Amino acid sequence: MYPSQFTHVPVESVEEALDALQEYDDSELIAGGQSLVPLQKTRFASPEYLIDISGLDNLRYVEDTGNSVEVGALARHTDIERADPIVESVYLFSECIGQIADWPVRNQGSFGGTIAEADPSGDYLPVLQVLNPDITVQGLDGERTIPFNEFYIGMFTVDLEEGELITSASLPKLTPSVEDGGIGSTYKKHAERSGDYALVGVAAIVEVDGDDVITNARLSIGSVGPLTQATEAEKTVEGTTLENGVLDQAEAAVRDAVLPDEGGSEGEYKEAMAGEFAGRAIKTAYERALDN
Ligand SMILES: Cc1cc2nc3c(=O)[nH]c(=O)nc-3n(C[C@H](O)[C@H](O)[C@H](O)COP(=O)(O)OP(=O)(O)OC[C@H]3O[C@@H](n4cnc5c(N)ncnc54)[C@H](O)[C@@H]3O)c2cc1C
Repeated sequence: MYPSQFTHVPVESVEEALDALQEYDDSELIAGGQSLVPLQKTRFASPEYLIDISGLDNLRYVEDTGNSVEVGALARHTDIERADPIVESVYLFSECIGQIADWPVRNQGSFGGTIAEADPSGDYLPVLQVLNPDITVQGLDGERTIPFNEFYIGMFTVDLEEGELITSASLPKLTPSVEDGGIGSTYKKHAERSGDYALVGVAAIVEVDGDDVITNARLSIGSVGPLTQATEAEKTVEGTTLENGVLDQAEAAVRDAVLPDEGGSEGEYKEAMAGEFAGRAIKTAYERALDN
């Protein structure tokens, strides 16, 4: 199916994009087109004007800013996946992106488009929930910066006012908070086939002290009903070295926390896989924390 007719409005600056959003009533921004175009083709979206921000190269960057890594809204998935500061200091994000779809999608899809879309089966959400980066958006009245966990309201819904555009995010670097400690992270995805959307996506960050005891854990489960921060599971592993069945208890806490949309055996399967992949994620993040 083809999209319904639209007028293409290419813009060369953020200001032009904001003016165009105000000028054209029935309009939508387009960045990589990897979510919007399929929606247009199936007529779930039929904007009259497409404001094309794909050429805003000043928003296409990944930059080390000291304690954090700043990502411009037009950075493509592959730009982020390979960027040194991400690989070195926010590794789970690079690991997550490597599991999104395939090369064409990863070369086109942008950071801003992905978080604006907030697709509950997307891979970014659990990673961003555990990182909680600051998101910067710009409107004609100026800029706002919001922590991701406030910016993200729920499936397909973010705190973006009409006429606003996401410009960047500031991802905290994962560095140990004590000198002889360590920090490890991972993203584990379970999908039917490689490159498919996740049936379960789990992001984990684990921090240990000099005695290998977990001092802080963050765990988020995506693609199983609403995005879930597994706080009980986090508390279960904190203060331990994962000995004596702690991992089994954490997996059980995750199974209790998730709320699959599906009923019956499909829901039970997703619940079971959420526990299983959360266990694997905690173990990997812990082992990585011990390594650094
Ligand atoms: C075949 C296929 C498989 C895929 N598989 C996966 C997968 O396994 N995992 C996964 O996570 N994702 C997957 N995706 C989605 C992909 O990651 C998209 O890149 C992403 O969801 C949207 O990014 P985009 O730049 O293409 O956004 P677009 O499609 O251009 O835009 C999406 C929405 O965001 C808005 N928008 C765009 N940029 C901004 C901005 N800067 N500020 C405010 N609003 C903005 C647009 O108006 C639109 O409403 C898949 C996509 C396809 C086509």
